Amino acid sequence: MDELIEKIKKGELKMYELDDFTKDVNKAAEIRRKYLMEIFNIELSKIGEYSIDLNLTYKKNIENAIGCVQIPLGIAGPLLINGEFAKGNFFVPLATTEGALVASVNRGCSILTSSGGVQAKVIDDKMTRAPLFKVSGMKRGLEIIGWIKEHYEDLKEKFQEGSRHLQLKSIKPWLIGTNLWLRIEAETGDAMGMNMVTIASERMARYIIEHNSDLSLVALSGNLCTDKKPGSINWLLGRGKSVIAEAFIERKILENRLKVTPREIVDVNNRKNILASAFAHAYGLNAQIANIVAAIFLATGQDAGQLTESSMGITYAEETGEGLYLSVYLPSLEVGTVGGGTHLPTQREALRLIGCEGGGEKPGNNAKKLAEVIASTCLAGELSLLSALAKNELAKAHEKLGRAKTK
Ligand code: NAP
Repeated sequence: MDELIEKIKKGELKMYELDDFTKDVNKAAEIRRKYLMEIFNIELSKIGEYSIDLNLTYKKNIENAIGCVQIPLGIAGPLLINGEFAKGNFFVPLATTEGALVASVNRGCSILTSSGGVQAKVIDDKMTRAPLFKVSGMKRGLEIIGWIKEHYEDLKEKFQEGSRHLQLKSIKPWLIGTNLWLRIEAETGDAMGMNMVTIASERMARYIIEHNSDLSLVALSGNLCTDKKPGSINWLLGRGKSVIAEAFIERKILENRLKVTPREIVDVNNRKNILASAFAHAYGLNAQIANIVAAIFLATGQDAGQLTESSMGITYAEETGEGLYLSVYLPSLEVGTVGGGTHLPTQREALRLIGCEGGGEKPGNNAKKLAEVIASTCLAGELSLLSALAKNELAKAHEKLGRAKTK
C-alpha cells in the first residue's frame, strides 16, 4: 500500500486508476483514504467503517470512492394506505439528521391510520429527455415537426429497441428561433428511467439526423426535460410519477389527539402554504414535503439530485361536515425500485421494508407502489406540521427533539 501511495504522491499513478490497478474497490478506497490522511494529517477512519461492499458500486454508482457516510435511519408508521399499488399498513424508512422529523411524520401516520388511512394514486407516469436540435428557421422547423408526427411509429420502434421496459408515450415539440426541442416522454417500468430514456433518446436523435441531414444536435439534454433544476415545466406537465394522496380526518380525532380544529388547519394552510407560497412564486405550496421525500430518497437509493423537482408539491385542505379533508399533489416524483442506487444492500433492505424491492410482478408496479407510499407519508408530514404550526408548537418540538446536548 505504501508503495502505491508513493506512486500517487509522485504523480505516477492517478487516484482514479486504483480500482482497476488493485481490482478491488474496497482496497482502492483504503489506499485513497490513507493517502488523504497522510497529506492532510487528519483521521478518516469512520468513513472507512461501512457494511456495503464497494465493489458493487464499480462503474455503477461512484468513482474515486473513499468509503461511505452514514445517515441515521428511523421509521414512521404504521401508516394505513389504500392505494392502487400500496395497500395495507406500512412502516416507512426515513434517513435524516433532522431531529423531530421522524417524530412529526410518525404522529401524522398515527392520526391518518386512526382515521381510516390514506387514498393514493399515481395519475401519470413518464420519464423525459428533451434533445435540442438546430434548424435553419421557422419553415424548416415546422417541416421537421411534421416529419416527426408522420414517422412517429418508426421513431417509437427505434427508441424502444434497446430495452425490454421502455414505452414511448409522446414527443412534444417546441420551436423557438432556430432551436427545436423534442420533449420525449416514456414509461420506464420500475426504473426511475433517466439512463434508459437518455440512451434511447440518443438513438432516436441519430435516426432523425440520418433522415434530415441539415439538422444538428446541439445537446442531447436540452433542459426542457427538465432534470435536476427547479422549473415550471415539470410543475405543470409532470415528470416521473404524478401522485395524489388524500384523507378525511374526523373532527374528534383532530381535536382530541392534536388539540386542533379542522378550521385552524385550513386557515394555516390557506395563509401559509397557499397564499405565501404563491406570493413567493415557490414551486412548493406545502409545509415540509421536501423533508419526507429527501429522507425516503436517501433511505431507498434514489438519485438525490432529483429532489429538486421531486419535492415540489401542493397541500390542499378543506373543512367538511365531519372534519378535515387533506390532500397532497406531487407532480414530479422521480423514483425507481431498480437501477441507480436501489441495488445497494442497505437501500434494498429499506425497499424491502416497504415491500417494493426490485422489479414488480408487472413491471412498473413496484415503482408506483413506492410513489404512493412517498405521497402518503408526505400527507402525514403535512398534517403533523400544520397542526404544530396552528398550535404554535414548531419551535418547542425542535428544541426538544433537535437540540439535545450531546453526551
Ligand atoms: P438503469 O440501471 O440505467 O436502467 C435500468 C435497468 O434495469 C435496465 O437495464 C432495465 O432493463 C433493467 N430492468 C430490470 N427490471 C426492470 C423493471 N422491472 N423495470 C425497469 N427496468 C428494469 O436505471 P435508470 O433508472 O435508467 O437510470 C438511473 C440512473 O441514472 C441513476 O443512477 C441516476 O443517478 C442516473 N442518471 C442518469 C442521467 C443521465 O442523463 N443518463 C441523469 C440523471 C440521473 P431494460 O433496459 O432491458 O429494460
